[in-house]
Amino acid sequence: MTWVRVPPGSDFSFDNLPFGIVRPLRPAGMSPRAVIRIGDHALDLVAAGIAPALTSQPTLNQLMASRAGRDVRSRAADVLSGPERADWLHALADVEVLLPISIGDYVDFYSSIHHATNLGRIMRPNAEPLLANWRQLPVGYHGRAGTVAVSGTPVTRPEGLVPGADGVGQLMPTAALDFELEVGFLVGGPRATRISPDEADEHVFGAVLLNDWSARDIQGFESQPLGPNLAKSFMTSISPWVVTIEALRPFLVDPPAQQPEPDPYLHARRPWALDMHLDVELNGTRITETDFAGMYWTFAQQLAHITVNGATTGAGDLFGSGTVSGPTASERGSMIELTWRGTQPITLADGSTRAFLDDGDTVTMRGYCSTGSRDDDSSGRVGFGEVTGTVLATPSRNPPRPDASVGHTEPGG
Ligand code: MN
Repeated sequence: MTWVRVPPGSDFSFDNLPFGIVRPLRPAGMSPRAVIRIGDHALDLVAAGIAPALTSQPTLNQLMASRAGRDVRSRAADVLSGPERADWLHALADVEVLLPISIGDYVDFYSSIHHATNLGRIMRPNAEPLLANWRQLPVGYHGRAGTVAVSGTPVTRPEGLVPGADGVGQLMPTAALDFELEVGFLVGGPRATRISPDEADEHVFGAVLLNDWSARDIQGFESQPLGPNLAKSFMTSISPWVVTIEALRPFLVDPPAQQPEPDPYLHARRPWALDMHLDVELNGTRITETDFAGMYWTFAQQLAHITVNGATTGAGDLFGSGTVSGPTASERGSMIELTWRGTQPITLADGSTRAFLDDGDTVTMRGYCSTGSRDDDSSGRVGFGEVTGTVLATPSRNPPRPDASVGHTEPGG
């Protein structure tokens, strides 16, 4: 099918061909450009002469906005299955992989019924876990587009107001740093509004893995009644390879039944759940493993919801699925669920325990679609690679006073 050697089990089979933005490291001075990933290589779309006005840009935004953008992938497939042109390939080791999109608007949802139910039980143990609106609309909030970062970017532990026993907030580094396992969807095509769910594939260009880093103690104090705000805005990580809606199409399946049936503007006839496997590792220990197909609200319904009031959406907008949690304890997509707000710490392979994330911890999320069984690598995978990030300590606000420690080294002094 292709002259490129694709390692068995690669996320980036010929069936996938996701877009990314890279800067070739050699020769020096090369500019960022659009590529198509295959196996452990990237096809240089500029070198291959494919839509150079769109592919020589430092982001995918113009390509995603253009109707010609979808044609680029099929032309790349023709190149990859035609006469060998190794000179148009970069080895992944020879490029810097960049944030592929200049994010426009960013909305994050809350669309897993298992996640919302777990959070309801943790936060309001004596009440109905789901609030009355939850089954009627996909609940969401506006996030911070400018702090979306590409996989590999370290996350600095944020500070915020955390209440003491007296209820007074004090500025301090969060003691409850968390991740959220999510899938992010990227809008393409011309600006549009009032999108019907069954037209979602005309307006969604592709998808990425998304880690919605969260500070639970800051979130709890500030989100009364609006939010989240600073508890989430410090950083959101995405994977660098934009898996196209065309590549995902074979994995679209029926979502779970919705009860009660939602308002007609949210009603879809076509299947918009995505049959995708997800997992999370913390310092190399797998701590959760779940499936995306069980999400209550689909990306098509989310897109219909954010435009039903007449708001427009356009290429480069990002919307997150909300934390993906499944029905069992081993399928929880955040630390607050896995440790039940820190009351049941988890144990890692090195014997250490975690209630929330420590400085130095590395969180890695992976995801893929496959027509084979979970461990069958023989079929063409459509994978997302990974989104990873390591926690850095909060930088000290005040330099240490030079005489403070000296004075205490003199016993009785
Ligand atoms: Mn989230």
